Amino acid sequence: MTETAVSEKLTTRYTETELICPKCKARWSPVVANFVNFETDPAGREGMLRKAMHHAYCPACKFHVDVDHIFAVYDPDSNTVVQVRPKWEFKAGGGEEIYWKRLETLLLNWADHDVKVDVVFGFDELIEKYLGGEEAVGAAMARAKQERSEGLESGTIVKQLAAARTGSSTA
Ligand SMILES: [Zn+2]
Repeated sequence: MTETAVSEKLTTRYTETELICPKCKARWSPVVANFVNFETDPAGREGMLRKAMHHAYCPACKFHVDVDHIFAVYDPDSNTVVQVRPKWEFKAGGGEEIYWKRLETLLLNWADHDVKVDVVFGFDELIEKYLGGEEAVGAAMARAKQERSEGLESGTIVKQLAAARTGSSTA
């Protein structure tokens, strides 16, 4: 599949969200993902494996905030669009019932695309079901360590691997 053939709806999109620090009430706008296509954004996938995604630090007092931002990913291996919702929502909102409700909405939203859809609650469930589980997390952490020791930008190794796979690298 060429870049132009990828539906606009399946294109990786990031956005900014408004946060208010629960500790010092400072306001800022960290970048969050709305949609991550694993096929074209291997570094985004890697960030999820490293559990580095949707963490924000207050610019004023450095307080750590878990960003509750609902987003979706596209996994080309299983041809699935997976909506990732906050982990607490499943427990707070009625378990199975909320799952089916979300799935129904998502199905309608993607009815015009030849993709499967699924809903997960939290990064751990996403990793377990679609990213290869703890073994893949370990491999991603090892790559992070290698990148740090070689002074490479985060995500460099998976980008190189992806380029080699698609043949866009002539090396
Ligand atoms: Zn703060």
